[in-house]
Amino acid sequence: MLLTRKISFSAAHACRNPVWTDEVNVRMYGSCALGTGHGHDYLCELAVAGRIDPQTGIVVNLVDIKQRLKRVVGPLDSSHLNVDDPAFRDKMPTTERLAVEIWNRLLPAMNDCELFSLRLHETRTRRVEYRGDPNMVDVTRRVEFNSAHRLHSRFLSDEENARIFGKCNNPMGHGHNYELEVTVRGAIDERTGMVIGIGELDEVIQREIVERYDHKNLNLDLEEFQTVNPTSEEFARVIWSRLASCFTRPALYRVRLVETGNNSFEYYGE
Ligand SMILES: [Zn+2]
Ligand SMILES: [Zn+2]
Repeated sequence: MLLTRKISFSAAHACRNPVWTDEVNVRMYGSCALGTGHGHDYLCELAVAGRIDPQTGIVVNLVDIKQRLKRVVGPLDSSHLNVDDPAFRDKMPTTERLAVEIWNRLLPAMNDCELFSLRLHETRTRRVEYRGDPNMVDVTRRVEFNSAHRLHSRFLSDEENARIFGKCNNPMGHGHNYELEVTVRGAIDERTGMVIGIGELDEVIQREIVERYDHKNLNLDLEEFQTVNPTSEEFARVIWSRLASCFTRPALYRVRLVETGNNSFEYYGE
């Protein structure tokens, strides 16, 4: 059984290697490399695992988990990570490293349940997930784009298409504000504190996905949908295959395509 507890905190940081040029810094740390420092409202989601106690009916008291989280995260709140936290005096306080630090500080207090995963959201569009193995850290980036499509299968008659896809089979099509989450999984590079450069990841997603699909009609403008019905299932698979070859270390782990607030699709490869 998994239980999740959230806690948020605000902290300042600066991620910039003084030896590198601005260009190299931005490719690695994105806008976190700009200026003298800035802050984030971090959101931390901790999942713990355990068995249900047959007498109490709970795995572990979430009030205790909340207290343990507060003891670890409290001192980070309203701090400047580079200056105030001894762990970051001589290494960059990236979100990857911050997730590992919070995990390691929580670990000794977890005697009645198991730490399962720690998700640390740096912004609404970037998060890190840690499960105790520094060689398998997930970094997720979220982007948005807008495309039109018409659901229509060339293998079916017009009547069958109309019956299965309903108004989504409308001959003139319709559009969505798609949200895409791209997750890569890999080791934290000791030199940078990152799994992948923020600018490097963004460059691939922009080039392969946003520039290709934003403000396009999938059926009319894209050769990959000339024979493939642009359902979100197929779209997620097409996105996966475009991105997978761009990543080796770290490797592509997951794509999640949100078609509307009610429908989302995840793909992990074959
Ligand atoms: Zn930052
Ligand atoms: Zn649609």
